[in-house]
Amino acid sequence: MNILSAIIVFENLHEVKRLFHWGPIIALTVIGVCSSMAILDSIIWYWPLDTTGGSINFIMLINWTVLILYNYFNAMFVGPGYISLEWKPENQQDTMYLQFCRVCKGYKAPRSHHCRKCNRCVMKMDHHCPWINNCCGHLNHAYFTSFLLLAPLGCIHAALIFIMTMYTQLYDRISFGWSSVKIDMSAARHIHNPIMPFSIAAFAATLFALGLALGTTIAVGMLFFIQMKVILRNKTSIEVWIEEKAKDRIQYYQTGEEFIFPYDLGSRWENFKQVFTWSGSPIGDGIEWPVHEKCNQYTLTIEQLKQKHDKRQRSVEYRVVEDYNGACCPLGKGLNTFFRTPCTEEPRIQLTKGETIFATRGTKWWMYGDKVLNEEQAKVGVRIRGWFPRRCVEKCHYDSANNSTSEEKKEQ
Ligand SMILES: [Zn+2]
Ligand SMILES: [Zn+2]
Repeated sequence: MNILSAIIVFENLHEVKRLFHWGPIIALTVIGVCSSMAILDSIIWYWPLDTTGGSINFIMLINWTVLILYNYFNAMFVGPGYISLEWKPENQQDTMYLQFCRVCKGYKAPRSHHCRKCNRCVMKMDHHCPWINNCCGHLNHAYFTSFLLLAPLGCIHAALIFIMTMYTQLYDRISFGWSSVKIDMSAARHIHNPIMPFSIAAFAATLFALGLALGTTIAVGMLFFIQMKVILRNKTSIEVWIEEKAKDRIQYYQTGEEFIFPYDLGSRWENFKQVFTWSGSPIGDGIEWPVHEKCNQYTLTIEQLKQKHDKRQRSVEYRVVEDYNGACCPLGKGLNTFFRTPCTEEPRIQLTKGETIFATRGTKWWMYGDKVLNEEQAKVGVRIRGWFPRRCVEKCHYDSANNSTSEEKKEQ
């Protein structure tokens, strides 16, 4: 028991609850089915342990499973690393370059973002991954990416075993006629004499596992290439978006600024070494980062503040003219609203006639924005933000100069 608890040290035992979510349940089921079928198929029907090749094959299959699970559980339980609650930069003056998180009641350190699922500010957040039911960020980036590499490799090995098992077991039973292919499942002649005959159930299970293995190889393999791109450029998926908007903003206002992304160290190898180290934990504390010589610690956060300010200036005020219950596909709001619901996990917000909304983006049938709250709610730090049907609101036609000046003060 002591050895066990020494090996599995969960920082917080409540982290175990991350397992009880559709993502980890499906992922672990797929890993379980593929690896156990590959092991069973090998030792019973394809490559028994009494040969050298069979033993090596068996050890390799076990190895894949162990490595895949090791990286998977580390990605899940080590987590991305969270900025401590009520965090402040050491130098009080630096707070002017940072955004404030009203949920964590602290400043957002450079490269961190607030994750609504984790309900914390996440170090170097890339995205929230439902398959590990946690964020992918600073501390688990290497584990996460290793998992994305190892899972397809393990699946390719398993897929080869499945194909070879079915081929060798069925080969002798298939007779080809001019117009038909017959499979005789009863008269099996085997090279080895397996303990069990290769039944229809075993054939079906192997075929099913083959489908899972091939699907996983393609889907997870693609994710691996996406993450390698992130690591080699040292630019998270969120930062790609920020950089895009920076270029957009500079072009729109013709400010003549030059935006340099600060965290790309110039060489892919250097960027790679920031994430992958022999110790397993990445370089840095998740708050301070090595930056490009023309940049400083706050280059990106200042750009984010500018963009946020710009968004406020360009957000449009709407008044609610029709109640909305917050359903994803609401009935009674028209067919287009029903069918064109935005394909995103972002929340929908309830609307009551007479409320005011600041919209920042939208589609033809849906809009996204912030509800204007009463003073008490605003003081507590409540924020109601999400999608709603466009037909439930109407544009306000008075200038919002008062609002923008108060927002500007807040930004200072
Ligand atoms: Zn936060
Ligand atoms: Zn998250």
